Amino acid sequence: MEERYIKQMNFQGIGREGQELLKNSKVLVVGCGALGTVVANNLTRIGVGYIRLVDRDFVELSNLHRQVLFNEEDVHNNMPKVKAAANKLKKINSEIEINSIIKDVNSVTIEGMAENIDIILDCTDNFKTRYLINDVAFAKKIPWIYGGALGSSGSVKVFIPEEETGCLRCMMPTPPPTGSMPTCDTTGVLNTTTGIVAMIQTNETIKYLTNNKEEIERNLLYIDLWDNVIEKIELKKKEDCTCCVKGDFAYLNNKIPEAVHICGNNSIQIDFENTNIDLENLYKRLKNANISVKLNPFLLSLKVEKYDIKVFGDGRAIIKNASTVEEAKGIYAKYIGY
Ligand SMILES: [Zn+2]
Repeated sequence: MEERYIKQMNFQGIGREGQELLKNSKVLVVGCGALGTVVANNLTRIGVGYIRLVDRDFVELSNLHRQVLFNEEDVHNNMPKVKAAANKLKKINSEIEINSIIKDVNSVTIEGMAENIDIILDCTDNFKTRYLINDVAFAKKIPWIYGGALGSSGSVKVFIPEEETGCLRCMMPTPPPTGSMPTCDTTGVLNTTTGIVAMIQTNETIKYLTNNKEEIERNLLYIDLWDNVIEKIELKKKEDCTCCVKGDFAYLNNKIPEAVHICGNNSIQIDFENTNIDLENLYKRLKNANISVKLNPFLLSLKVEKYDIKVFGDGRAIIKNASTVEEAKGIYAKYIGY
């Protein structure tokens, strides 16, 4: 352990004691995209003992410009993001444990994901999941770090339930309506923006895990890399906040996950909870019907009509080029069946 971590152990804020604390820490990274790959890379290299990575998606060519753990081979092989990431991370540090979970994060799945976790890093790209993270974090008293990046601007905010200084819903009582916010799809994003946001998220995580809590930034940190602006914005706790004051965890308690739209790539996800699918059987059935289909150990990929469909072992499917939920459900019923 000495040699690998010597440069950070020599840093006065960490030392031998801090290194030992990192080794005994468990971190949940929600989302394995632009922020998640940078965060996971950092956490692996600094020697966090246990990293749980969750993501529902697979690697695509348009990910490579900012999602640092992936390469062209992963695109070619239709690799799920968490598996492609875990393959790289294990080669970087074999002394730590990486737990990679290919699943949608929703009100049914998130509680299990947050079990025995010291801190949660929000590396998602949507507010729906962030409100869910906020609920589970405050229900279980786990700190979490919000990260957002769009274009050349990004923001980071640390939330620590035990400090009782407010939560995401104090900042914004309800999520912005779907479609009302710019997305990476419409506005684009620089890899420098996502990189810096993820670096700051990791940095605050290190402070938390090594008991340097007084050094943690409590304000919302806002950065714009095009205008070279860094601002600290003070946020106030809402004294009547439904979540952190009244303890009403509405997003977590709503146990009816639905088919959801995915940010960005013109895709719709269909998810029927707990309907396991025998991918090999499905592969044979489709192949016999002369459909162009590929199988890897994690997912089945088929191209049919104008659609590009990925089916996972838990019955979940991501359907590209479907424009409505109904259309996506119809395609699912036609080729996969339920
Ligand atoms: Zn609150």
